[in-house]
Amino acid sequence: MANEVGQTNSAIIGLSHVRAIAPYVGGKPISEVAREFGLDEAKIVKLASNENPLGMPDSAKKAMAKAAEDLGRYPDSNGFELKNALAKKFNVPVEWITLGNGSNDILELTARAVAQEGDEVVFSKHAFAVYPLATQAVGGQAIEVPATPEYGHDLAAMQKAITAKTRLVFVANPNNPTGTFLTAAEIAAFLAKVPSHVVVVIDEAYNEFLTPEQQYDAIAWVRQYPNVIVSRSFSKAYGLAGLRIGYGIAQNNITDLLNRIRQPFNVNSLAQAAAIAALADVEFLKKCYELNRAGYAQLTQAFNQMGLKYLPSSGNFVLVKVGDTPNAGATVNLELLKAGVIVRPVGNYGLPEWLRISIGLPQENEAFIVALKKILNQ
Ligand SMILES: *Cc1c(COP(=O)(O)O)cnc(C)c1O
Repeated sequence: MANEVGQTNSAIIGLSHVRAIAPYVGGKPISEVAREFGLDEAKIVKLASNENPLGMPDSAKKAMAKAAEDLGRYPDSNGFELKNALAKKFNVPVEWITLGNGSNDILELTARAVAQEGDEVVFSKHAFAVYPLATQAVGGQAIEVPATPEYGHDLAAMQKAITAKTRLVFVANPNNPTGTFLTAAEIAAFLAKVPSHVVVVIDEAYNEFLTPEQQYDAIAWVRQYPNVIVSRSFSKAYGLAGLRIGYGIAQNNITDLLNRIRQPFNVNSLAQAAAIAALADVEFLKKCYELNRAGYAQLTQAFNQMGLKYLPSSGNFVLVKVGDTPNAGATVNLELLKAGVIVRPVGNYGLPEWLRISIGLPQENEAFIVALKKILNQ
């Protein structure tokens, strides 16, 4: 029997650990902000989801259009061509690569493959929001380790947090939303101390934005450690966020597990075709890297001028402190929305005084800076 609000009187449905999950909150879509605030969509600037301001590369668009002719068929379940291209790029066996519906898929598959109810999953405070989600979805116990005073991962403390119950550790490098970076030496020292029963995900969604001085060889760790998986994304530097494609690189033991539990057709044909083209498009990647460096300089110069604290970022976004009260982020965010600028409040990351700004085109960054100055009476 249904009651007044349409609910039946039967027992509560759903696992308690699933009901306890707070759903992911993404950046507001442009259309929603336009409706809500009565704004012209064309005038709205979105710097909220770390998307590529250049959009997708033309090479990928062309490849996708061609692949669209064959959409009556299922995608290649084994992603033969893309996996081969990736294997060649990283000089690893094809069997070490898993394609995912976004790298988010790789993070979740790994959690599902190695952790269940009662198991512990370790990650840092202020780390990517998907880590607690993936942990809770399998009934795991999230062990959130306090960050360093600079808001980065405290790898020594994370290592100490590992117990006999730990099955998985997430390390984001660079991390989102803080933009903090761990050096190769720091990660190497950490990995050497992690027990072999614990799988370590090194989430490198922003790897392509690292400077040449920062770049390091994560694949060497995959070769050395059968309990390490590196995840990468086509959503950020490669500009394919809407297609949902990423990949993991690990030895056969982990890859084989992921392959057993993934959906047979988890990566669609358009995404595979676009990713193959984007991977080969070194010109696009270079352009995007340079645009990001210039945008970072533009934003941080403005923050310096305004006397605002920001965290040095190794990604395509900057975390900036917009006030000293716990509602500063939400308040300034609302004013920015009214001005047609969408950024990301990060109160859910334990950072209520901060906003995360994705680096956009010069004119988008400028529109944000102008709006922010006005809001802060500068
Ligand atoms: C954006 C992001 C991802 C996931 O991106 P996909 O679109 O699923 O590939 C993974 N990790 C971090 C830290 C991110 O910021």
